Amino acid sequence: MNFKNITIAGSGVLGSQIAYQTAFHGFNVTVYDITDEALEKAKEKIKKLKKRYQEDLDASQQDVDNAFDRITFYSDLSKAVSNADLVIEAIPEVVKIKTEFYKELGQVAPEKTVFATNSSTLLPSQFAEATGRPEKFLALHFANEIWLNNTAEIMKHPGTDSTIFDAVVEFAKSIGMVALPLHKEQPGYILNSLLVPLLDAAELLLSKGVADVETIDKTWMIATGAPKGPFAILDVVGITTSYNIVNAKAEATGDPEFKKLAELLKTEYIDKGKLGVATGEGFYKY
Ligand code: NAD
Repeated sequence: MNFKNITIAGSGVLGSQIAYQTAFHGFNVTVYDITDEALEKAKEKIKKLKKRYQEDLDASQQDVDNAFDRITFYSDLSKAVSNADLVIEAIPEVVKIKTEFYKELGQVAPEKTVFATNSSTLLPSQFAEATGRPEKFLALHFANEIWLNNTAEIMKHPGTDSTIFDAVVEFAKSIGMVALPLHKEQPGYILNSLLVPLLDAAELLLSKGVADVETIDKTWMIATGAPKGPFAILDVVGITTSYNIVNAKAEATGDPEFKKLAELLKTEYIDKGKLGVATGEGFYKY
């Protein structure tokens, strides 16, 4: 199976990055979004990416221009997928929106087209039926700032055909990703299955008053050789995201330790505008 024409559905934060990375590696890329206004915003985002590729990857002016020229933009789904070998979906993380999208996509896409979801928290099996082609559907999950953080977690659902899975693994490699295959469905994929418990544990040590931020990070870094400790990682992720996760856990479980932690994150960090690297201060100052 040889993918040549790739359609990216949803041209937000991740969709625009996936589109540009794919075009940069020589594929024909079509970007689909619901309105022309969204597509105009996508063009602006992608133009900014050209600069980042030059700064961060030392890409030449010609290479970044050629990549941009390989992208076409459509707000009509059937036109956007009319010759697609692969559709990568990066639309909002809302079950209803994704289900409706896959129902329509399944109707208008050619039979050959493989569908992949970039969803961070939803499982592909939730949408497999709506696609009308469960054997040609799986997850292909990228990280933000894809050209630098070049992991691609490729995850099957129970009905995914192995040949399709292997082809998507090869495709991920061909756009400069480190392909990370997951042979079974796993909420949070590999990275968040490891990272979320680590970050939770570090924050609970802090809110229980066991140790301070620097001591906890130092322990992790010296003992494991990791370049960053959990609080330095949290500053990159953003404290708002961490608060949302902790707060959801507090509400779902009623666990008093998580409640106390959510309160600490809100009063000591969020309310004071300390949201992490993005605002110049979080657990550390930047
Ligand atoms: P975003 O809100 O930045 O972009 C979503 C885009 O989808 C918007 O351009 C919107 O106009 C468009 N859209 C809305 N409804 C649509 C529809 N029916 N059809 C086509 N397009 C539609 O979102 P994002 O942060 O890029 O996230 C998109 C997906 O990528 C989510 O599933 C998310 O879990 C996943 N993801 C996000 C990140 C991240 O760091 N932001 C990282 C990995 C994966």
